[in-house]
Amino acid sequence: MDWLMSAYDSTWHAFPAAQVDDPARTFYQALCDHSVPARHAEHTAPRVFCPACLVLYGAHIPDEQRWQTDG
Ligand SMILES: [Zn+2]
Repeated sequence: MDWLMSAYDSTWHAFPAAQVDDPARTFYQALCDHSVPARHAEHTAPRVFCPACLVLYGAHIPDEQRWQTDG
């Protein structure tokens, strides 16, 4: 999963890496269904995360990582 900034809403969305790595794709579709043309998806350090993508991304993390504690 890659966090890319959509130039449409200046928000970082989670995009499946398979889409981002495919040079033939003309647009990407985020976990939250936000879609953006590939040329408007920017690789920069995330500052504003899409709340919907955060929730959906969290659901993709295996339980043993999500619930891991220091103890
Ligand atoms: Zn999103």
